Amino acid sequence: MKHAELFQRSGAAAWGTCAFSDLPLSAPQRQRAQELCPDARGVFVAAYPYSAGDGAGNLSRYARGEDYHLVLLRRLGEVCQGLRELYPAHRFVPGADNSPLDERACARLAGVGLQGRNGLVIVEPYGSWVFLGTILTDLPLPSAPEPSPDCINCGACVRACPGGALDKLPFDEERCLSALTQKKGELSPEQEALLRAHPLIWGCDLCQQVCPYNRDALPSPLADLTGQGSVPYLSTLTEEDLEGLSNRSFRAKYGNRAFAWRGPGVLRRNLKLRRE
Ligand code: SF4
Ligand code: SF4
Repeated sequence: MKHAELFQRSGAAAWGTCAFSDLPLSAPQRQRAQELCPDARGVFVAAYPYSAGDGAGNLSRYARGEDYHLVLLRRLGEVCQGLRELYPAHRFVPGADNSPLDERACARLAGVGLQGRNGLVIVEPYGSWVFLGTILTDLPLPSAPEPSPDCINCGACVRACPGGALDKLPFDEERCLSALTQKKGELSPEQEALLRAHPLIWGCDLCQQVCPYNRDALPSPLADLTGQGSVPYLSTLTEEDLEGLSNRSFRAKYGNRAFAWRGPGVLRRNLKLRRE
């Protein structure tokens, strides 16, 4: 089976490759990559659409289906299985957020999608509502002849960002509401005020909602990422949903959700800020 067929069967909307030597990696990232895959020579990168549409709720669209880490590792695992049959002497290591590779840098070098000013990768016809996953390998792979082009730079995402996180490059994570909804510990009064005015208790979709590439974006056909599989669609979490849950029982109830990794504490805090 050819590479394209493997990625297509896995549900990828786009895929490409880049040379490991082209990636900008810090010394610790390079070391970690070499531990995962000695003599790493290439990276496959693939985009999986996740939006189920613009339904109301207080969870970001990306967190409404099954946890994408689980979904991507499962889907990329199937691709790896096919690649091992094609190249039995080589190693293939799937990654989704948990690898030392910068997935957006991989996508840029691989020519996958457009590079949005908001830092996201745009893959037609699904817009920026895509997750990126990688496969690190000791199989030599080339980067694309040209890296991905930039978006039209209309500035709508910069203007829509409540915290001004996109005002300057590089992006300021301390001012991003998506990061703030996940931040443990003390928040500054300014950060609390941003969260009070924010409609979501987990994530932020504003810089995507205003992007012209997302205006007519198609919904994802992937059942697991859109809550049509064994993990049902969940758009809203309430204080009642979390009432009485210990860390352990929270994980038992929500452990297959992307918002679960921080535990119930930050979600309770965010819900409380919303009603203050
Ligand atoms: S909103 Fe405009 S500037 Fe921002 S990513 Fe989309 S096209 Fe680019
Ligand atoms: S996710 Fe929200 S807060 Fe973060 S950069 Fe985009 S609009 Fe700004």
